[in-house]
Amino acid sequence: MAALPESDDLFAMPDLDRGAPKGTFPDPEMPAQEAYQIVHDELMLDGVSRMNLATFCTTWIDEYAQRLMAQSLAKNIVDKDEYPQTAELERRCVRMVADLWHAPHPDTTHGTSTTGSSEAAMLGGLAAKTRWRKRGGQGVPNFVCGPVQVCWEKFARYFDVEIRQVPLRGDRYTMHPDDLAAHCDSNTIMVVATMGQTYTGLFEDIAAMSATLDELQARTGLDVPLHVDAASGGFLAPFTAPDLVWDFRLPRVKSINASGHKTGLAPLGAGWAIWRDTDDLPAELIFDVDYLGGSMATFNLNFSRPGGQAITQYYDFIRLGRTGYTRVQSAIYRVCRHLAQGLSDTGLFEMIHDGSTEQGISAVSWKLRGDPGFNLYDLSERLRSRGWLIAAYPLPADRQDETIMRAVIRHGFTHDMADLLLADIDRCIDQLRKHPLSVPLTRREAGGFTHDATAAVSDESIANALDLR
Ligand SMILES: *Cc1c(COP(=O)(O)O)cnc(C)c1O
Repeated sequence: MAALPESDDLFAMPDLDRGAPKGTFPDPEMPAQEAYQIVHDELMLDGVSRMNLATFCTTWIDEYAQRLMAQSLAKNIVDKDEYPQTAELERRCVRMVADLWHAPHPDTTHGTSTTGSSEAAMLGGLAAKTRWRKRGGQGVPNFVCGPVQVCWEKFARYFDVEIRQVPLRGDRYTMHPDDLAAHCDSNTIMVVATMGQTYTGLFEDIAAMSATLDELQARTGLDVPLHVDAASGGFLAPFTAPDLVWDFRLPRVKSINASGHKTGLAPLGAGWAIWRDTDDLPAELIFDVDYLGGSMATFNLNFSRPGGQAITQYYDFIRLGRTGYTRVQSAIYRVCRHLAQGLSDTGLFEMIHDGSTEQGISAVSWKLRGDPGFNLYDLSERLRSRGWLIAAYPLPADRQDETIMRAVIRHGFTHDMADLLLADIDRCIDQLRKHPLSVPLTRREAGGFTHDATAAVSDESIANALDLR
């Protein structure tokens, strides 16, 4: 290492004086302390995660979870033979999640941890596509869904499957189950139902969708399986709406994905894919890796992955149990309803999802009543000046003329923070009224900062969805 310069003041060191390399691969080296400071300081411009109500993902984990994550940094989850206990904890999690979602044989059913719901969704989709081919399916496979998260458009494009999105109709925000059958044919590999829509937070009526498909089968012989995208709902409804039937209690549900790193409370990078029965995951998708002198089935898109997420998820499961999860998630829903009440009380907003446990995930979504002289993009931009990151965006096809706003309330967001947010919303509305913008903001100008899953539903992907109608 080069000798230190005479001044030992960090900010007078030559590398900080010069500015960090940004384009080509740098030639010189620099002391770790300087490199750290450069990177650390640049990140001060990022938003504050816990004030980011656009994201669904974990933004707070406790000290023990942080310790386990730090201790697991070097553990590769694919090395089952080298880290057999990490593999064991993952398998226990699979059984626990299968049990939570009422799989008929949670002890033996197939399931895996993933990097998130996106990978788990791809695996669910690939399994459905392979089952369809094995049944003799020919031609271009398709799947049918309502308004879905962008990962399903990715699945369609990456794996050559046609996506058939059922347009919204009337004043519904979720797909009408009655519209489902008309979109299904012998090439339909699955219907994807969403337990907690990204746009509004609302649950789809999965029991009704299942009944419609039962009726379709009775009428035509078509047997279309359901995959449930329970990214957020999978770790809420079992605790806060236990009577809602959406999971493997419906025999038509063959696979479910959820994000451990959303309401599962695990750190970023954790997801789960679970199949109803061993037969529902075709053997073609399974690879064996060495495990304690024998072999163990794996089915992932990645090879190497960090092991800490599954380890920490196991910690969450045994620490909280059903009792703890119910307590934590109920508290979050109470904050949702408090926020929804405050928003309603302004008289300016109409609630789409008010945070009731039977209706949707722990989120609140709303739209403007009438035209108060500003739009929701203006409000979103104003709120950003106080550090709040709240997404505003258009609804999917056929209701793209409507703009809505959504706040996702997560573990670590308190009643007091909701009050601070409500006070800032009041203040921002006041400012917007006193100093109206001569030209209201467009989605692109205001929404550039919300790189969360929903905001990532690009104009292009919306256009694609429209083409497919
Ligand atoms: C977040 C989300 C996804 C994508 O999940 P990741 O864990 O971010 O990969 C898929 N579907 C729904 C409904 C979601 O909310």
